[in-house]
Amino acid sequence: MRIDVVTIFPEYLEPLNVSLVGKARARGLLDVHVHDLRNWTHDRHHTVDDTPYGGGPGMVMKPEPWGEALDEIIGAAEPPPVLVVPTPSGRRFDQKLAVELSAAPWLVFTPARYEGIDRRVIDEYASRLDVREVSVGDYVLAGGEAPVLVMVEAVARLLPGVLGNAESHQDDSFAAGPMAQLLEGPVYTKPPEWRDRGIPDVLLSGHHGRIARWRRDQALARTAANRPDLIARCDPASLDKHDRAE
Ligand code: SAM
Repeated sequence: MRIDVVTIFPEYLEPLNVSLVGKARARGLLDVHVHDLRNWTHDRHHTVDDTPYGGGPGMVMKPEPWGEALDEIIGAAEPPPVLVVPTPSGRRFDQKLAVELSAAPWLVFTPARYEGIDRRVIDEYASRLDVREVSVGDYVLAGGEAPVLVMVEAVARLLPGVLGNAESHQDDSFAAGPMAQLLEGPVYTKPPEWRDRGIPDVLLSGHHGRIARWRRDQALARTAANRPDLIARCDPASLDKHDRAE
């Protein structure tokens, strides 16, 4: 997968060189390009913002640098990339969207600052490619770079070959499959005793059926306690008769 990020703070994206994403890049599974938006300005001060039409506080990012940057990066490429625009007013980012984006061969992210990007930029590119306006949550950050880090990491770990164990994201919270809509339950490792705290007996039993049942019960209990909204939205057909007995 290729990923381009256009930002006025390229250094903010340096975490894309470390850990899972950094390793995926080093192994050639992910091709990441971070661009400085100011390279597409033409004045001495490299201006990227101006006052908002209609008045009001804050500044708005000018359309010209974004247009020049995106035209140059995207060019006439076929198929074109999916353009991901981080904004608190977008669709909420979730695992389903991460899965959807992970199927695209090319993503271009446009993290903004100030009060956001002149609307005409989004409308212009929406007329020729798939544009997704995406929010990482119901709060307002100072810029879109942290949301890009969140989205790239969530997408990258779904790419084939990125995780060591191909199955390790299948049991995650929100993953598709038998645990869909459920949060993952607690996990344990060695030693078997730590500060007088042991391991639930069932996990030491070696009985795969009982372990699977226990994990599902834990996931149901945790989801009911922390995210009752997910339980309320749960498709009744996805529950088995033992779930209903809980
Ligand atoms: N005035 C905007 C509003 O109320 O929707 C907020 C602009 S915010 C200060 C500046 C930029 O940070 C946004 O354009 C976006 O790129 C990014 N941003 C802030 N919060 C975000 C969120 N929850 N999800 C995604 N991007 C966000």
